[in-house]
Amino acid sequence: MNRPGYTFGTRFVRVLVVHIALICLCGSVHAQPAANNYLFNDSHFHLTNYIQDGTDIHDFLKIMGDKVGRVALFGIPLQQQWSDRVDDRAPTYYLNSDAPLYYYSFTDASIAMAYKSLTREEQTRFDPMITGFNPTDMYAADHIRRVLKTFPGVFSGIGEFTIHKEFVSAKIAGEVASLNDKALDRLIDFATEVGLVVLIHNDVDVPFAKPGAEPAYAAQMRALLKRHPNATFIWAHIGVGRIIRPVREQTAIVQEIINDPDLKNVHFDISWDEVAKYIVATPESTKHAADIINRYPDRFLFGTDEVAPDSQQKYLKVYNQYEPLWKLLSPEASEKVRKGNYARIFNDARRKVRSWEAANLK
Ligand SMILES: [Zn+2]
Repeated sequence: MNRPGYTFGTRFVRVLVVHIALICLCGSVHAQPAANNYLFNDSHFHLTNYIQDGTDIHDFLKIMGDKVGRVALFGIPLQQQWSDRVDDRAPTYYLNSDAPLYYYSFTDASIAMAYKSLTREEQTRFDPMITGFNPTDMYAADHIRRVLKTFPGVFSGIGEFTIHKEFVSAKIAGEVASLNDKALDRLIDFATEVGLVVLIHNDVDVPFAKPGAEPAYAAQMRALLKRHPNATFIWAHIGVGRIIRPVREQTAIVQEIINDPDLKNVHFDISWDEVAKYIVATPESTKHAADIINRYPDRFLFGTDEVAPDSQQKYLKVYNQYEPLWKLLSPEASEKVRKGNYARIFNDARRKVRSWEAANLK
């Protein structure tokens, strides 16, 4: 007896089984969360701390879980020296000791090897960054080239690297970094040629600045950005710090950059609990920040700036701290700041860097 209904039903069941099998295959714990189900992409994350200790990247994937899509991944380029002469207790943070910090280039190999220990699918969730260079050294650009050559197919950007940072810049062994340094121009030129994202930390002012005075580094920072119109910049923490308060002029500085048609390549990350602290300090400060972000949603990125977290609760702390801000953003701005801008900037970088590598690294 001919039973067309049976044939159709069998085919339907087969298709269903194949679909279920595919869902099971794709739904492994570390796979990319279903598009847009996650809370954010993290444009600013340190896997290791100031003594080069950190979270195992496989554990970190579990911490990201289904909450975080992609992460710009780096260590910290500076190592806090343990000087037994100064204090026999081992420091773990730069404020724990008067001993100097020094540039620790091995961080790049360490990050690359962590990335390479992942499956291909897991790797798609990370954008590793090169940080282990001394930005006062004309040879810094050569270090970046050497890292790309040793670990092709891995990196998407450089940074977070630091020029002026409260309490840090002054205690780095060797010359003090400067925004006016030819070495800095040389390394940004090279990053631009390759297509690497440039994530730069530079406080806009010195600690305890005289009220009303022009922020110490505002003009120099603007000049640096102007000298590199084709670089893709992310200015970490919008230039503020733990005690570098968002001076009244800070809004003007940001606004001026946003309005400058030559500086469409400059973005700002709102990472760090210290920055969140200022933004959500009062309903007025939150609204003020939300207004700017809603007006220019393409220019801001969320990042955590967490350092080697050991739990999801710690990792999501800054995101949760920003809850009052998220509520005031338009759906479009919220999506861009939490996810879309990251995807646009880092997809572009991945494509450019891979093609530069293919053409230049034999
Ligand atoms: Zn950072």
